[in-house]
Amino acid sequence: MNRAEALIDLGALESNVKRILATTKAAGLAVVKADAYGHGLVPVAERALRAGATWLGTALLEEALTLRSEGVKAPIIAWLTPIHDDFETAIQSDVDLAIPSLSHLERVLSAAKKVGKKARIHLEVDTGMSRGGALKEWRTLSERTSQALDSLEVIGIWSHFARADEPGHDFNEEQLSTFQLRVNEAKEFGLNPKILHLSNSAATLTNSASHFDLVRLGISMYGLSPDIETMGDSNELQLKPVMQLRSQIHLVKDIPAGSQVGYGGTAITKSDTKLAVIPMGYADGIPRNANSLAGVLIGNKRAPIIGRVSMDQFVVDLGNDSIARAGEWAYLIGSEGAGGYTADAWAKACGTINYEIVTRIGARVPRVFIN
Ligand SMILES: *Cc1c(COP(=O)(O)O)cnc(C)c1O
Repeated sequence: MNRAEALIDLGALESNVKRILATTKAAGLAVVKADAYGHGLVPVAERALRAGATWLGTALLEEALTLRSEGVKAPIIAWLTPIHDDFETAIQSDVDLAIPSLSHLERVLSAAKKVGKKARIHLEVDTGMSRGGALKEWRTLSERTSQALDSLEVIGIWSHFARADEPGHDFNEEQLSTFQLRVNEAKEFGLNPKILHLSNSAATLTNSASHFDLVRLGISMYGLSPDIETMGDSNELQLKPVMQLRSQIHLVKDIPAGSQVGYGGTAITKSDTKLAVIPMGYADGIPRNANSLAGVLIGNKRAPIIGRVSMDQFVVDLGNDSIARAGEWAYLIGSEGAGGYTADAWAKACGTINYEIVTRIGARVPRVFIN
């Protein structure tokens, strides 16, 4: 029995992918960066493809190359590749590259010439987020690209929304119309890529005008909401959370009223109670500053965190009448039945978003694939 494990429900993943792709004519790209948001790169990629996604997207080239070495044949875009990355291997391995600047273009071009094979590229335009993509360089980048078509195949043009999780916000319309303008500018230089793509999960779920040819599904595929305030939670979006997280109870003991708990004595028991030690901590990605809005479900009873999370463990308050015992499963996320804490609850308990909660679950926690 593992000390702790993340249960990854690939059946839920499949159903999320199918449910979302049924609402669009666009093809689906499964975003599997950061070990598939902490869910496990290769099994997630393979199941997403079986469920109907036809593309994969990673941040790093290393992630894309791992997929290739595991025999994944689908088209893959790696969109965060610093200029000294190994573009020759990328081109030889049929990994599509995002091009956000002239310097990237030059490096990829010279790699393509060395390898003697065309690089497959997606020109990245900054439509207002001021993060990735070409802004002032866009026309020059398009022109220079159009002069290098003997070494390049321009597969796509793409950009990224800054505020898609605020559906109806004017900035989304602004980015969408800027995107169309920039695509038209590229066309003036004779570029005519087959695949335009702009939408992340939030835009895919809320704005079909932004779907174009391909939608990039991240958080929604993992069954989580891009923003529970503006878009509702997993249930309201008809998505099934893919990750459950559980750990064996290490120790249960009676503690008198008035005892301080954990480093810094930040919590004091109000009455005689039972506490349990859960052997997971911030080394496993459990946020150190999570408060008692989060905790574990044992049987079907919630036990909130008491005191600070340590590196390898934290303490929960079981209540005086608890029958929980060492060795039982305590669910940090999800449960066998209903009533468990969600990634959203953990996010709220430490002031972050569900993306960060699942993505940071550490390598020390085995992923167990079910369904
Ligand atoms: C991470 C990422 C996505 C997926 O975003 P979600 O909000 O998780 O759907 C899409 N596109 C790009 C470029 C990304 O980096």
